[in-house]
Amino acid sequence: MSFRLSTRSRARLVGVHPALTAVVEAAILRSSVDFMITEGLRTATRQAALVKAGASRTLRSRHLTGHAVDVAALVEGQVRWDWPLYGRIAQAFKAAAADLKTPLIWGGDWKTLRDGPHFELDRKAFP
Ligand SMILES: [Zn+2]
Repeated sequence: MSFRLSTRSRARLVGVHPALTAVVEAAILRSSVDFMITEGLRTATRQAALVKAGASRTLRSRHLTGHAVDVAALVEGQVRWDWPLYGRIAQAFKAAAADLKTPLIWGGDWKTLRDGPHFELDRKAFP
């Protein structure tokens, strides 16, 4: 079976780059783990608050321009933060991105401050 994006998840994709939205739509269909979108486009005010709280280190976040989304894994409809779930979701995102020929970066592949819930369009292809 495949999962479907909730209405709330779809609402959070408003303002997100269409190429990234297409990857999300394809990823949910092939993911072995259900997920929701927790955040897409972010305001400068919210980004500043996240940096102040220590949740983010940059004021140049890809969320500010609609080039990034954050997901939360769902098991039986409940949010789970167990790391292995995010690896499985990332597999679905990477396969979807490859199908769509959309260069995508997973925050879980970063060497410092690994960010499992975060996916963004590659700056090289989508400045
Ligand atoms: Zn993020």
